[in-house]
This record gives sequence, C-alpha cells and structure tokens, in this order.
Amino acid sequence: MTAPLRLFNSLTRELETFHPVHAGEARVYSCGPTVYNYPHIGNMRAYVFADGLGRTLSWKGYKLTHVINITDVGHLTDDADAGEDKLEKAAAAQKQSIWDIARHYTEAYWGDVRALNIRQPSEWSIATDYIDEMIEFAKAIEPRHCYELDGGLYFDVSTVDDYGKLARATSDEGEGRIEAVEGKRHPADFAIWRKTPPGETRQMEWDSPWGKGAPGWHLECSVMSGRLLEFPFDIHTGGIDHREIHHPNEIAQNQAFCGTNGLADPANSGALIWMHNNFLVERSGKMSKSAGEFLRLQLLIDKGYHPLAYRMMCLQAHYRSELEFSWDGLGAALTRLKRLVMAAEALRARVEEPVAEPDDGWTQLRAHDELDAVFLVYLARFDDAVSDDLNTPVALTVLEELLGLRKVDARETLVAAAAMDAVLGLGLTQLTRSSLRIRPKDAAISEAEIEDALTRRKTARADKDFATSDAIRDELAAKGVEVMDGDPLGWEWKLG
Ligand code: AMP
Ligand code: ZN
Repeated sequence: MTAPLRLFNSLTRELETFHPVHAGEARVYSCGPTVYNYPHIGNMRAYVFADGLGRTLSWKGYKLTHVINITDVGHLTDDADAGEDKLEKAAAAQKQSIWDIARHYTEAYWGDVRALNIRQPSEWSIATDYIDEMIEFAKAIEPRHCYELDGGLYFDVSTVDDYGKLARATSDEGEGRIEAVEGKRHPADFAIWRKTPPGETRQMEWDSPWGKGAPGWHLECSVMSGRLLEFPFDIHTGGIDHREIHHPNEIAQNQAFCGTNGLADPANSGALIWMHNNFLVERSGKMSKSAGEFLRLQLLIDKGYHPLAYRMMCLQAHYRSELEFSWDGLGAALTRLKRLVMAAEALRARVEEPVAEPDDGWTQLRAHDELDAVFLVYLARFDDAVSDDLNTPVALTVLEELLGLRKVDARETLVAAAAMDAVLGLGLTQLTRSSLRIRPKDAAISEAEIEDALTRRKTARADKDFATSDAIRDELAAKGVEVMDGDPLGWEWKLG
C-alpha cells in the first residue's frame, strides 16, 4: 500500500488528494524565468520545488509531462500592468539585441538547472515561439471579455466569476499596486496585447488585429499551458508572488477561453491544483537582484560551496515555509550532504555491481527488487513523508536513518537509498566526497599544493618535529586553508 498523494491547493486553501485528470498521468506546468538577468538562488528555489514535485509524481508511478516556460517577452517591470518590458529595458541598458540577451540568460539559467540536479522537463516552452497561438487565443476571448484602448487589448475581469479567488492580498493592497491606465474599466483589468506606441519601434513586436505590439505576460502562460497540456491539466506551480496577480490573471483568461463558470470547481480555473513555493529571504528582507550582494548560484560555487549544498538547504525546509538564507546555514547543509555522500560511498565500496537510480521510484522498485522487509519499512516511511505535501525535511531524516543502519545488506541499503534519492536528487549514486570539495575562486593555493603540504606535515609529526608541523599549519592558514585534525568527517582541510 502506498500513501495517497496529498497536495496543498492554493486555490481551495486545502490539502487535497491528488486525482489526475488522465488516469496514470500527471501534467504539470511551472512558470519559468524571465530571462533578462541571471536568476538569483531564490528564483532557483521555485525550480527545485517544481522538480521535487515532478520527481515525487514519478515516484508515485505517474507518467509525468512537465512543461517549464521561458519568458523572453512581455514581462513588465511591474507584475501588474505598468512599467517597461524587462527584456527591452535590459537590452537597451546593455546595448545588445534582445535575442542575445534572452539567449545568454536562458543558458545561464539552464546551467543552474543542471548544477542543481533539476531534471530536464518534457519541454521548455519559449514564449516567442507561440505568438501566433497567443493571437488566436486573444481573438477567441476578445468579443466577450476584452476591450481595446490606445495602449492595447485589455481583459475585463468583471466578465468572469470569482476573479482573484487565488489571491490573498486585500483588494486595497492589490489595487494600490496597479497604476491607473486611462480608460480601464476596473483597476485589476490587464493588457493581454500591448500595442507599440505610435512613432516607436520595439525590437520585439508582431502584427496583430490590434496593431503592432507584443503579448502580455499572463497571456503567454495561459496559451502555452493550454496548448501543451490541455485544459484542465493537473498542477500549475510558481512562486508565492504569482498567487497575487499573475496566476489570478491566467485563471481569468483560462475561464474565458474554456467558457467555464466560477471557481467552486477548481477544474474551471484550467488546472486542478495551484501550488506555490514560499520565498527564500535574506535577513535584510526580500531577495533582490539590485540590493547588496547578488546571490547567484555561481557566487556560492565561487565561495567554495558545492551547488547541491543549496539543493540540500531547500530540501531541509518545507516548500511552503519561508526559508532564510545564511552562509552558516549553507555550510551546515554542505556538511549534512557530505555525511550522506560518505555513507553512500562506503556502501558503494562494499558492493560489486553499481546501483543506479530507478526511473520510476517506488513503483518500479517494488516490481523488480526483492528487498528485505526492514527496507520496505523505511521506504514506506519515506513514501508517507513525500506523499504528505512533499515533506522533504522528514524524508531526509528517513534517508539518514536508513544509511545509519548497521549489519544490513549493503546492496539492498544502496538500492533503497538510490530509490529515495530519485526523489531528493542529491546525486548520491554518483557523488564522491572529493567531488564535493570546491576550491573558492579567490583561493591562493591549489589542492595539489595543499595535499603536498599536508603530507610534509604528517611526516614532520611522525618524526615528532612539531616546529615544522606548526610552521606548515601556519603557512597554510596564511593562504586561507584551515587544517582540521581529527575532523569526524575525515576532512583534513577546509578553505575559506
Ligand atoms: P521571475 O524570473 O522573476 O519570473 O521568477 C522566477 C520564479 O522565481 C517565479 O516562480 C517566482 O515566483 C520565483 N521567485 C522569485 N523570487 C523568489 C524568492 N526570493 N524565493 C523563491 N522564489 C522566488
Ligand atoms: Zn506564468
């Protein structure tokens, strides 16, 4: 018996048992990055979460179709309806073509995706590949739901029932953020097509029945999710900020397009379940790309932290809790990861055949592997944890307990651990202790030099030449290397 999968639906504000639209399948759409800058590690939390959801659905035996989009047009500097296009603005500031900007930052994002062991989705949908479909969608909903102003084609939110049900902000807060556009019937109305102002040309603009212009950001996600997954699909994800404007607007468009009524039935919103990860925050407040040190994944790596330490940090918190970033917290997550990797490495050394991660987790494992009952108990506990709205903090402790078992079969332990890691994605079937050690970018010494100094120091100590041994230690300290005698993890040195 596996536990039923329970997920928190932001739309009904309840934990719900997952019943897919198509038996045996799970179709998931995740709002992707706007590629006008490098993603910060807070953005990447959203994809570690979406990946964990996808991996859990695979573990539960569902055939997963996961789409993540790349927003390369249409996202304004304000989520609502004001400001400039983020990409146009970045291109002007960096004196580059928008297409180059989009390509550069998409690739940077994909680099972070790989480094964090986020699985490739079934499809990366690129917004500018769907312009024709966006125009068709807008034409279909225009007669009953839209009106034209000088600035573009606007969606009238009063034409759908239960507009804004997903949002938590009070209407005052919500409306306060929205800049007045002359002629708008309701402050929450939003542009689904923005016309290029007369006399201007934009780098990215297309002909449409409403004149030259570009699609609105909300329109893009409705169109790509509906085209690729068919309404209603199973799960739509995004960061918690999307609960306030972007997703309510997507839902309104979906209702208009599908001709559905109010949201008492969540399927009318276009997706059965809307899920949102909470924010990664810094002590100083909300993460930002402009204030202070820009927390990119590459900065963590430059400082000597393996990127999967950040994945571990995310897994240690429930996705619906706010997570505070600190360097100490990241260091602790790295230590925890090292312990797991060392335990898995020790097991690997004891088995002859390599054990691979199973593709379909729990289901496949139960079909193909005769495991001792003790492992089935651990796997069932792990299943309970991840099935409980993706409780990764508990799932991690089950994995740690499993790896701490003594006097059990090494191969079977490894098979069970690999199955769990297919959900957690910490790379336990391949990582080695030494691969976790990354040299900080500004380190004044190489690994080989450190190892050489440590060997000389060992010889000096064996000869009871403590003066030399201490001198070598001081020499290393001057280059930022801390020698760690008697470290329980067996790490002899640490940089930085
Ligand atoms: P953007 O590229 O700005 O559209 O954001 C990409 C994703 O990151 C969206 O799902 C956002 O909701 C999410 N996000 C933005 N900031 C944070 C943060 N500090 N912590 C977690 N998720 C975030
Ligand atoms: Zn979106």
